[in-house]
Order: sequence, then C-alpha cells, then structure tokens
Amino acid sequence: MKAKEVWQGKCPRCSEGDIFVHPISKISRFSEMNSHCAKCGVTFEPEPGFYYGSLFVSYAFTIAIMVIVWVPLYVILNPPDWVYGATLVGFSILSIPFSFRYSRILFLYWFGGLTNK
Ligand SMILES: [Zn+2]
Repeated sequence: MKAKEVWQGKCPRCSEGDIFVHPISKISRFSEMNSHCAKCGVTFEPEPGFYYGSLFVSYAFTIAIMVIVWVPLYVILNPPDWVYGATLVGFSILSIPFSFRYSRILFLYWFGGLTNK
C-alpha cells in the first residue's frame, strides 16, 4: 500500500483509476463513488454492504480529530463546557467529507483484496 495512492484515492490494483467520481473539494458531491475502476475495470464494491465496516475506520478518525481539537483547547483556553461541545461538534461535521472518503479508501485497501502483492 502506497501512501500517495491512498491520499489521492486511486485504485488499489492499478493505482491509476479514481475511486471517487469528484475531488473532495466538490463538497456537495463528495460521497459519489465509481462502481468500477476506469483503467483496469476492477469493482470498487467487492461484495454488497462492503463499506459498512468502514464505519469503524470513520469512528476512529472522528475520535482522533476530537482529541486533536480538544487537547489544544484544554491547554490553551480551557473554555466553558458548552464551547467544548460546540467546537467538537463543529469540527466533527466539518471533517465528514474527509472521514467518509478516507475511511472507505483505507477499508478498500485493507480488506478489498484488490492490492497487488
Ligand atoms: Zn484500477
């Protein structure tokens, strides 16, 4: 698994086709995936419901983001409780496109059985 291809959301088999239809910057359609690789034709959904497992990866991302936001908030400002809540919920919502896409990309790389050994 190469970090560059994971970061760019490329096909685990040929490293050329895009897993997602649009770049992450197109925020209104960040979740649309290609069903197959445009270059090598491999399917990006190895079995029905394959991506349910990526919820656990997304959960880990969200916890990591919350810790990354919470620690500086606590050390630097130590604000009232409602500020923690609002800030953590805000960052969680803002990170949805990142968490969604990279949890699926990593899950496909780890468990899709598509990578060349
Ligand atoms: Zn491919």
